[in-house]
Amino acid sequence: MNTVADAFVAADSGTDAPRLREIPYNYTSFSDREIVIRLLGADMWRLLQELRGERRTGRSARMLFEVLGDVWVVDRNPYLQDDLLDNPKRQVLFVDALRHRLREVDRRRQHGVGADAERDAKVARLIAAAGAAVDRFATSFAETAELRRRTRRVLARHTDRGNIAFDGLARVSHVTDATDWRVEYPFVVLHPDTEDEVRGLVEGCIELGLTIIPRGGGTGYTGGAIPLDARSAVINTEKLERLSDVERVVLRGHAEATPTIDCGAGVVTRRVIDAAERAGLVFAVDPTSADASCIGGNVAVNAGGKKAVLWGTALDNLVSWRMVTPDAQWLEVTRTDHNLGKIHDAKQATFELAWLAADGRTMTRRETLVIPGSAFRKAGLGKDVTDKFLAGLPGVQKEGCDGLVTSARFVLHRMPPAVRTVCLEFFGLARESVPAIVEIKDHVDALPKSGAARVLLAGLEHLDERYVKAVGYATKAKRHGRPRMVLMGDIVGDDDAAVAKAASAVVRIANARGAEGFVAVSADARRKFWLDRARTAAIARHTNAFKVNEDVVIPLPRLADYTDGIERINIEFSLANKLRLADALTAFLAARRCRPRGRPTARRGRRRKSSRPRSTRRANSSPPCAHAGRTSPTGSTRRSPLCRTARSSCRGSAS
Ligand SMILES: Cc1cc2nc3c(=O)[nH]c(=O)nc-3n(C[C@H](O)[C@H](O)[C@H](O)COP(=O)(O)OP(=O)(O)OC[C@H]3O[C@@H](n4cnc5c(N)ncnc54)[C@H](O)[C@@H]3O)c2cc1C
Repeated sequence: MNTVADAFVAADSGTDAPRLREIPYNYTSFSDREIVIRLLGADMWRLLQELRGERRTGRSARMLFEVLGDVWVVDRNPYLQDDLLDNPKRQVLFVDALRHRLREVDRRRQHGVGADAERDAKVARLIAAAGAAVDRFATSFAETAELRRRTRRVLARHTDRGNIAFDGLARVSHVTDATDWRVEYPFVVLHPDTEDEVRGLVEGCIELGLTIIPRGGGTGYTGGAIPLDARSAVINTEKLERLSDVERVVLRGHAEATPTIDCGAGVVTRRVIDAAERAGLVFAVDPTSADASCIGGNVAVNAGGKKAVLWGTALDNLVSWRMVTPDAQWLEVTRTDHNLGKIHDAKQATFELAWLAADGRTMTRRETLVIPGSAFRKAGLGKDVTDKFLAGLPGVQKEGCDGLVTSARFVLHRMPPAVRTVCLEFFGLARESVPAIVEIKDHVDALPKSGAARVLLAGLEHLDERYVKAVGYATKAKRHGRPRMVLMGDIVGDDDAAVAKAASAVVRIANARGAEGFVAVSADARRKFWLDRARTAAIARHTNAFKVNEDVVIPLPRLADYTDGIERINIEFSLANKLRLADALTAFLAARRCRPRGRPTARRGRRRKSSRPRSTRRANSSPPCAHAGRTSPTGSTRRSPLCRTARSSCRGSAS
């Protein structure tokens, strides 16, 4: 198989299989290896590699890859699936064509039987596995059609038929989240109209054997909303957008009413922030993704944001929530001793769990959970992403694994009247600038926290160098160039003079680390300062190339180490990639340079005319020099020095 790719195979004598793309029509990020393993199994990939090693995989291999490519392209394209499902005749023709090609491969195999019995047996196994894959592919259409019929019948008992979506657009839109990771398309996407429908849908999915995936805005960074199983039902909560007015409720254990808001799971976070603001209050859950994320998702990942520094994350602000458990029961969770602050500051937190019958009202079981406040967080962390269990508290930070949250009630806060927003631009190295964050927080923490002169840090956000660049940050300082780090913070209190003094002190702390500081006083100026932070959400989709897409929580004192560490990973990977590319190219070019001149070709019959120079044609039709592709002691593949010394014996240079 004298392809360009072949030369790369020859050049890659390491243990890692090269990322080749010989399977045609593959526009996905899956490699040939992954496709073969998925369609034929890992054994067949090994077999294919052995045959490849024998370097006699030619036209038959190409035909086999075409069959796999055809199956794969339909497998990964819901629109093509719909088309074939709607056109049984086309379906039959398509499958017949696949089988015809496999028969051709087998015919070629039989033609050569006897020459090499061992190899022949391997090829036969490969053809049999491909045949089985085509059979599975053929029967999958009838199975899919039948399961769709059954799904419609079962789930239409609980929601409108129009809310049960199998179409390509619905499935494509729910294959991934902000991670951009794709594994399986969901089998069906459900869009319940009301909270009440959810329990029945969960029950129906259980009956149908479908894996259930709750989904809000799909902005999650942990891949929790991504289907891993082809038989998955994504329950999209976006239509559950009931939002109460701000309601003053006397919470259990409190004498006075507290402002709260009750939200359907599908309410977009920004709408709750706005509703609170209109009432002169603050909704503390404000992830940068607030324009797209939903309340159910916020609870399920325990989302925080810039205000978490003062009021904590979703967990700290929840009063009660309603959910459907994976065994289709209603469960209501109510916190009965809310401290109206950070949960870990409370000695303990008490939650009442009430399971309700299918009618959503009759209580069937009750349980009380008393959890020490300290159990919710590791010291110094705003959120402990390593502890999903959270002492068994249902729903929160469980990423939809222990049920689907259908609605939630949160406390709202009153922002003190005096507010200053500081924007600090750091131009030095990260390790010199980042400690300012801790210094500023320590400084404000040391100021009075009660009485008329209290001063609080109500929001804090840092943009590192890459984000500063990505958002096209307009430098406020008169210097040239962009800052390497930007820190924004809201300093609040009841006394304007005390807040102004604190803001100036914060700027001075930053100045001492080579930063320039700016203070916004009016609401409009403050909003403009925060706009750059909001822009980071919009550019996030363009930033996958430089982002480590993980949900990380870092203790502030270690932020500089983290920033440096990530930068180091960036540089190391970038250099390693470039070196690999250079090595592979060197080996490839060496292989072309070292091809012997005038070696007889195996090609029989009439030659096709080529417009290319004769030397190029000759070089391309002969196997690469055996000197190419030696592995260096460091494991990198380089052109062997032998080629250089024995250049005269490696006659003929195409380049
Ligand atoms: C640009 C950007 C900025 C971000 N900034 C922040 C930030 O500042 N702070 C922060 O904490 N996070 C942040 N995130 C992460 C993410 O936006 C939040 O975690 C958000 O809360 C996810 O909500 P969602 O509705 O998009 O959830 P989805 O992505 O739809 O789902 C996330 C997880 O929750 C589950 N889930 C969704 N809805 C429900 C439900 N109703 N019941 C049960 N489980 C459910 C899903 O199955 C999945 O496991 C950011 C993400 C992006 C893309």
